[in-house]
Amino acid sequence: MDKIYDVIIIGGGPAGLMTAFYCGTGGMKPMILEALDFLGGQSAALYPEKPVYDVPAILECTGQELSDSLTEQVMQIEPYVEFNQSVESIKQVDGVWTLTCKSGKVYQTKAIVVATGKGAFSPIKIGCPGEDDYHGKGLCYSVKHIADFKGQDILIVGGGDSAMDWTCTLKDVAKSVTLIHRRDGFKAHIGAVNQVKALSEAGEIQMLIPYEIKKIEGANKVEKVTIFNNQTNEETVKPIQSIIICAGFRPTADALKQWGLELNEKGFIKTHEICKTNLSGIFAVGDATEYPGKRHLIVMEFGEAASAAGAVSTHVYGKGKGGAEWWAGPKKKKTGNTEIDKDNNGQKQPVSAK
Ligand SMILES: Cc1cc2nc3c(=O)[nH]c(=O)nc-3n(C[C@H](O)[C@H](O)[C@H](O)COP(=O)(O)OP(=O)(O)OC[C@H]3O[C@@H](n4cnc5c(N)ncnc54)[C@H](O)[C@@H]3O)c2cc1C
Repeated sequence: MDKIYDVIIIGGGPAGLMTAFYCGTGGMKPMILEALDFLGGQSAALYPEKPVYDVPAILECTGQELSDSLTEQVMQIEPYVEFNQSVESIKQVDGVWTLTCKSGKVYQTKAIVVATGKGAFSPIKIGCPGEDDYHGKGLCYSVKHIADFKGQDILIVGGGDSAMDWTCTLKDVAKSVTLIHRRDGFKAHIGAVNQVKALSEAGEIQMLIPYEIKKIEGANKVEKVTIFNNQTNEETVKPIQSIIICAGFRPTADALKQWGLELNEKGFIKTHEICKTNLSGIFAVGDATEYPGKRHLIVMEFGEAASAAGAVSTHVYGKGKGGAEWWAGPKKKKTGNTEIDKDNNGQKQPVSAK
């Protein structure tokens, strides 16, 4: 543990990866610590097959494709990466931060960028009857493989972007898609809501508002669902094989609280100018943070990544040195090799980081 890194980025989702990239363009060699055994964060873990349409200059890609491209881009700056390292505690002595992981591994660094997203992605439950009993037996909170839903009657629950996205995406493979939402207002973008309304009017899906789940039935897995109009109490029974609950994911801010970071009432890290937190030498980016005007969108996180890298550079090297820069490109010819192997003391390590 004698090495002191210039910067350690906690979390290898889109925000952490782009922060690493911009640190690299400024001449730093960042370390990324990732709790999972793959990079990409939510886009790889929660929606690998969902289309993404709002990343600049990419007309359309899946969550997995986005993760793969980002990883390939970031590997060009040759960061250190360690997988299965969930950071549990941080402590500062004389300007050097010590990070301790669940595995027992300890790292030291001059600066930290917290890019932990929404933490352990624990889904928000809606509390309907049978929700726990049928979880994993036809009831889920995210879609991993679109093909799993082929030919099924699907019930999607929610009024946010995920509910709208999955409705549009799954209608092409499912036998039928019914979207229910318990109230008239939507959290989703108006464009996405209008798209779903248009599909409903065209008879391609069914959208029912204000509806909730009353009962889930089935021997070992979901077979039938009773939904009800929460204003008139009118009930409808539908044959359903899959229920996708899109009520969002709760950020697990407990660890962050122990780290001494100032959080807002929703559990997000309060960041000030240029991604600074209340603690000197700790910066934060991405879904873990909130400030006035913040949107939890990848495009916004990419911007934060550049700001954070500049701020880290100033913190570590002083004003006017390094930071997020226009980049002249990789020194070596691009190989397209983002292969990751496992022979670094049992840790995976990008080939290019060796
Ligand atoms: C279903 C769905 C669809 C979406 N679609 C879009 C879309 O189309 N367009 C768009 O712009 N946005 C979309 N988003 C939002 C987007 O995915 C997030 O804004 C983005 O992933 C946030 O990136 P991040 O790097 O901050 O966090 P995350 O992607 O959550 O990554 C955080 C990483 O940190 C790791 N981590 C957490 N705690 C620790 C710890 N203590 N130690 C080490 N590692 C840790 C996690 O394992 C994870 O890999 C969608 C989100 C969902 C859920």
